[in-house]
Amino acid sequence: MTTPGSPPKPPIPVAHPDTAAFWDGAARGELLYQRCSACEHVQFPPRRHCAHCQTGEPAWLRSAGKGAVHTFTTVHRAPTAAFKDDVPYTIALVDFDEGFRMMMNVLDCPPQEVEIGARVRVVFRPHGDAMLPQAELDR
Ligand SMILES: [Zn+2]
Repeated sequence: MTTPGSPPKPPIPVAHPDTAAFWDGAARGELLYQRCSACEHVQFPPRRHCAHCQTGEPAWLRSAGKGAVHTFTTVHRAPTAAFKDDVPYTIALVDFDEGFRMMMNVLDCPPQEVEIGARVRVVFRPHGDAMLPQAELDR
């Protein structure tokens, strides 16, 4: 919510039953993902059932938090006023070593240092009441 004269805030993640375990893990500094107990399919975002075989209850596992940049873009023009103070920032699709892909910001480095295939590691940053998984270059 925005009050006159105050800058708008970026949206806050809201957990629901399918994602609550993920956000609880993030609050502990753990990056969680799911793997199907029936067919071994790895999936993200979290779901109640396996997206591949439609059966079973996917098990929650802890990622080592390391992966590689699949692709990325650098945002120079904020999509809304809430992100005005953040530009330029780099958003990447990260392929984690366990086989799932997440979109996250790449923090604390100039955009020109991000490249496809660059190794990254997850870091957690507070955002509202949540801890957001983000990436840093793994140098
Ligand atoms: Zn499955």
